[in-house]
Amino acid sequence: MASLPLLQLNKDQDRRVSAGHLWIYNNEISAATPLSSFQAGDLVHVVSHRNKSLGIAYINPHTLLCARLLTRDSQQKINADFLSERLQKALTQREMLYAKPYYRWVFAESDLLPGLIIDRFDDVIVAQLNTAGMERLQSEILTAILRHTAPSAVIWRNDTMYREMEQLPLYVKIAYGKAVDEHIVKENGCEFIAALQSGQKTGWFFDHRDNRSKIVQYVKDKTVLDVFSYSGAFALPSAKAGARQVVCVDSSKTAIAYLNKNAELNGVEDRVETHLADAFDFLRDQLASHRKFDVIIIDPPAFIKKKKEYQQGLRAYEKLNQLALSLLNPNGILLSASCSMHLSNEDLLNCIRRASINSNRETSVLEQLHQGRDHPIHPAIPETNYLKGFIVISQ
Ligand code: SAH
Repeated sequence: MASLPLLQLNKDQDRRVSAGHLWIYNNEISAATPLSSFQAGDLVHVVSHRNKSLGIAYINPHTLLCARLLTRDSQQKINADFLSERLQKALTQREMLYAKPYYRWVFAESDLLPGLIIDRFDDVIVAQLNTAGMERLQSEILTAILRHTAPSAVIWRNDTMYREMEQLPLYVKIAYGKAVDEHIVKENGCEFIAALQSGQKTGWFFDHRDNRSKIVQYVKDKTVLDVFSYSGAFALPSAKAGARQVVCVDSSKTAIAYLNKNAELNGVEDRVETHLADAFDFLRDQLASHRKFDVIIIDPPAFIKKKKEYQQGLRAYEKLNQLALSLLNPNGILLSASCSMHLSNEDLLNCIRRASINSNRETSVLEQLHQGRDHPIHPAIPETNYLKGFIVISQ
């Protein structure tokens, strides 16, 4: 694409991209190619200060993170064929890893498709176009999806906070096929009804699949507390694996309604107790009433969405872990997770360490948790390594 307009970086500002990252920030752009001369979603040929070609990016002049590289080949045409090839690579990998077609098919930057999320629920595809660049490629993305799968529906879940940052409209739309909201997800030997159009994110959190299968090894004949339970992805496999009782807490009425339905669907409703409540209030109430549990799962939403929320978020993680540890029976198990990109593994471990001291518990880590393999980590992009967790035993 020799005809693309140039985007020149300032001196030494090609370092991140040369090290494998795909992001360019607005303070790295040379005055010779001002951002104001571009429209959101435009494609540009990125060059270094010395005019070395770095590849093709799409641009958004309204955001701090103003350009994301799509390819390092400046001759590449960005069209349905290009997208189709990237989708095929990602699909081949997922098909190698999973026996059933339920997975994150495309995990944005990690699959070299920055800003694009595609979740596959068998014959229903749910995608998020999180940037102006991807929004511009919408029809080519749909073409590419339809080349590789024969879905009954493709849904754009374009109602994410990332789109707000990109100054894009928020909407949910059936891009192809018949409208569906409720759809069955099969995972860890359970079936779940997921609300693909109205549920949180794409309707389902695939990223914890392996961690859910790990925790069931600890639950037989135990009492389990699943905090931030959503629609029961941790809770129901635990009940099926023989937990004596699974207590679930979530502040979303819809999530709890689905959890109740899903418990029935899997025939475990007699052992599942649900509470519509704020997690912190609920944990404090349990502490006050001296109720204890053998296994506690805490999988909160991201408390640190922006860097400036770090300190406040850190305190929330620490408090949560402290409350959970205080509610554990001797030799109790805590699964403590965080999906905050800005909270490192070490940070979370430190939270657990401080929580152990403050709750007067000796703890040791049994297992370290990560996001599933359908959310691969790009080695040059630490931001793609967002989900972390520990399974801890407490004396
Ligand atoms: N553990 C779930 C995913 C959790 S996502 C799974 O594996 O599928 C985070 C959940 O926390 C959401 O369901 C959201 O409704 C809930 N939530 C957010 N803030 C909360 C709060 N203060 N108290 C209780 N639940 C909360």
